[in-house]
Amino acid sequence: METVKRTKIKALLASEPGVEVLAKGWVRTKRGNKQVKFIALNDGSTINNIQIVANTENFDEELLKRVTTGASLAVKGQLVASVGSGQAVEIQATEIEVLGDCDPMRFPLQKKDTTLEYLRSVAHMRLRTNTFGAVLRIRNAMAYAIHTFFNQKGFVYLHTPLITESDAEGAGDMFQVTTLDLKNIPLDKKGNVDFSKDFFGKKTSLTVSGQLEGELGATAVGEIYTFGPTFRAENSNTPRHLAEFWMIEPEMAFYDLKDNMELAEEFVKYLVKYALDNCMDDLKFLNDKYDDGLIERMQGVIGIPFQHVTYTQAVEILENAVANGVKFEYPVHWGTDFQSEHERYLVEKHFQKPVILTDFPKDIKAFYMKQNEDGRTVRGMDVLFPKIGEIIGGSEREASLEKLEARIEELGMSRKNLEWYIDTRRYGTVPHSGFGLGFERLLLFVTGMANIRDVIPFPRTPKNAEF
Ligand code: ATP
Ligand code: MN
Repeated sequence: METVKRTKIKALLASEPGVEVLAKGWVRTKRGNKQVKFIALNDGSTINNIQIVANTENFDEELLKRVTTGASLAVKGQLVASVGSGQAVEIQATEIEVLGDCDPMRFPLQKKDTTLEYLRSVAHMRLRTNTFGAVLRIRNAMAYAIHTFFNQKGFVYLHTPLITESDAEGAGDMFQVTTLDLKNIPLDKKGNVDFSKDFFGKKTSLTVSGQLEGELGATAVGEIYTFGPTFRAENSNTPRHLAEFWMIEPEMAFYDLKDNMELAEEFVKYLVKYALDNCMDDLKFLNDKYDDGLIERMQGVIGIPFQHVTYTQAVEILENAVANGVKFEYPVHWGTDFQSEHERYLVEKHFQKPVILTDFPKDIKAFYMKQNEDGRTVRGMDVLFPKIGEIIGGSEREASLEKLEARIEELGMSRKNLEWYIDTRRYGTVPHSGFGLGFERLLLFVTGMANIRDVIPFPRTPKNAEF
């Protein structure tokens, strides 16, 4: 077998016929008759299968019986022009080796449609479906495009810690990290947990955001981005929230809110265009199977400037909508945080394009956002997308030491764990801005999947950390 070097199926499908080839992969289907068997083989390099043609007279009957859905094969043969429709080339097999049998009775991924929900409980099969092959390849392409985008702009990839003693910003509930014996917790004189006995000598958690550390990076090397796992003990069992997700957080010195908005728009457009340019086979599959508006929606987003609107203007639009009979589950008035139904109304019904919301009431946003002159709003920005709602959250940061300290005071936050951060405003403070893109929210948008659990290989959600 190994006298010929193995070629991946993606490359085989793009090759000229007339050569001897070796393919390896898993059987998707087998059909045919007494004389000839047609085997659809897939190796994950592309959504497309290569067709293997096996004349039964050349192969042992027992061997061909072992060629079942899910079994792994090595196939040597001649790459020939295909007479059947649907593919340009196929392999006329001369040698077939079954690398791994797959008991058809125990491999439920037959032709019958298996639900996404069911698949989440069968890890090995889930990833081998067409759907997850497509999702995983798009996920990989997006990760690559993110690094490419920022590296072309000279941003430094900054690795921020996953274990932290700061609670970032109250961005979300945190998972505590401890080596204390939970059956025998040390207490101090007041009866509180004595964290000085814990591994780090203090209370620590998994990070909810790398931003605060990111600001230190930006005020040192200018422009940074983080790209790593983020954890939030969100007990909200929604199709848009995970307990462990990936986030991209660029942070830029000398950027004001306008620069920040421009970068965010250029960034998401670049990513969506990259997917359209490089993942079309997978997108077509997902478009046909799950969401027939997917490709059109993606093309729509890259084709037009995003709508800019302040929070205050958006509240007026939403209040008008309510006055005209639009029904929302949650009430909306100045001072409330928008729910995704409000965000989607603005994007899908009112403006019919992506929206960048800015200048939020300070009480619904984090302490570090730059305060506006009006004393009630801050220079935050949320990028809202069709079908998703918020995909990016960011802001210009408060650069003034006095104002930042006053806000921390006003909110009654503990300064003890924040002095290292406040120092950036003491020693050569600069205007700076940044934002966070939820990687899986982006993937929802570029795959058309409806549930965030289905765009990450091993989802973590309340009561579920399997595999
Ligand atoms: P939401 O209101 O949707 O919960 P948020 O305001 O908590 O979002 P940020 O703290 O601004 O979000 O986080 C930045 C980005 O991270 C969000 O715009 C979103 O894309 C993503 N994100 C936030 N929480 C989650 C989560 N639990 N799972 C997946 N992605 C998330
Ligand atoms: Mn949240």
